[in-house]
Amino acid sequence: MVILTRKQVGSSWKIETAALEQALTLLEAKGLAIAEVIHDDNTQVDSILHQHNIVSQKDLWHKCKNVMSKFKELLQEKWRSPNDSTVECAESIAQVAVFSIAQLKDYCRDNGLQQTGSKLQLIQRMSVHLKLPEAGANTEIQRQRPLKYPQLAAHDLTYKLKSWIYTCAKNAAVRGDTTPQLLTLDIHNAANHWAGDHFTCRILPGVRKCDTENWSAGQMCKYPKGDETHKAMADFLKKYITEIKMKCYVRARENFISETFHSVINKFATKRIHFDTSHTARLAYAAMDWNENIRREVRAVYHRASNDTAVRRRAKTNKALVDRTSVWKMALANRVFI
Ligand SMILES: [Zn+2]
Repeated sequence: MVILTRKQVGSSWKIETAALEQALTLLEAKGLAIAEVIHDDNTQVDSILHQHNIVSQKDLWHKCKNVMSKFKELLQEKWRSPNDSTVECAESIAQVAVFSIAQLKDYCRDNGLQQTGSKLQLIQRMSVHLKLPEAGANTEIQRQRPLKYPQLAAHDLTYKLKSWIYTCAKNAAVRGDTTPQLLTLDIHNAANHWAGDHFTCRILPGVRKCDTENWSAGQMCKYPKGDETHKAMADFLKKYITEIKMKCYVRARENFISETFHSVINKFATKRIHFDTSHTARLAYAAMDWNENIRREVRAVYHRASNDTAVRRRAKTNKALVDRTSVWKMALANRVFI
């Protein structure tokens, strides 16, 4: 373990790279050949690894987190009437309601409809004329603009996209394929798969549900093939999943163990207090706490029954361990207080 403080390095943003350099020198001096390092998406770490001729792989969880947050932005995009668009393009009452009263009156005048009345009356009159699905119904006009891609939001594709990326990366790792081309194509294929087009699913390696069950075109369709939503989905994936970026995810690596270890450090050396003399000892405690269940005999394994969303972050299985014969914390306390 390399421990560096801000004082030693100069500033906190240099700590990560300085610690990496030190750790690499230390391990290489001990004769350990380092083949691969997994890190969060940090470009400086990437260039250091490149200098040392070490394969750089990034954490898949961080990638999915970034893609999901960008995807949520796409889902929240509101439907707008482009300047050149006309009322005729509207496909629902909500989309008609986006236009101003003046624009609605213009439409009524051009189409020989009565121009008097409130906005609601104008909209209802026009919905019949435009043959909209909810025509004539006493629909409340929403004050908010409708979503641009309601089908993407309706099917909760954010989590599906996350597990799609995970599955593709894990499949690439199992295949032992270190080139990003197939992985990128596999992830891009999500846009077609959700549009009911399983052509690419069949040529890609790996067994898929849509392949084994021989789905017909249109089955499991989240949005129609070739429409605006399909195009938006394909463009989104092309923008955020590129071959250059996916090169670092071909082995489906994750670094959650070091992330969770940092939460243990927080228990012994809380961030709001600066421990000058006891810092190293506190980190050693954290390491002992982290290691205390290693090689402990497992009495039973039980599965989490509920699939409640509130406990999503917990593990699916729990282990009941055999009681300890000694506890390091007790041993330490005995040495200090007795
Ligand atoms: Zn498919």
